[in-house]
Amino acid sequence: MSAYPLSSLPQHRWCRNPVCPTYPCIHTESHDPDWLENTEEAFRDPDYHSALWYYFLTLSYPEIKQQTPPEKWASYEVNFDRCRRIEAKRDQIDKDISDNIQRRREQSQALILTILDGMKIDPYIRHVMRERELLKIDKLW
Ligand SMILES: [Zn+2]
Repeated sequence: MSAYPLSSLPQHRWCRNPVCPTYPCIHTESHDPDWLENTEEAFRDPDYHSALWYYFLTLSYPEIKQQTPPEKWASYEVNFDRCRRIEAKRDQIDKDISDNIQRRREQSQALILTILDGMKIDPYIRHVMRERELLKIDKLW
């Protein structure tokens, strides 16, 4: 079993037909271990995940901790180090994700161009369809 049983499900991945045999794979947005664990947690327990980030991002407001039952606070506090590491690596993780999106966008464009090139149609119609499809991809990504 994958260390990321929910993130690795086909419906949560960008690879298509077939889904890559391992996770993370080349289609995964980031391979950062903290990002992967963070993502898995978001699938496993979205309410906990949202609350964790809420408590982490409001650490500078001590009244929030004071208003939270200690055992509940402790259940979030154990993951604050991961949040800190993610924040410290935020620029790199964001770059990983934007590079991944750009790669998928280019693959979609290449696929559309291959399909259109293979169609026996009037060159002008091909040109119009090409521009229309590339515009759709631009909007999608
Ligand atoms: Zn893949």
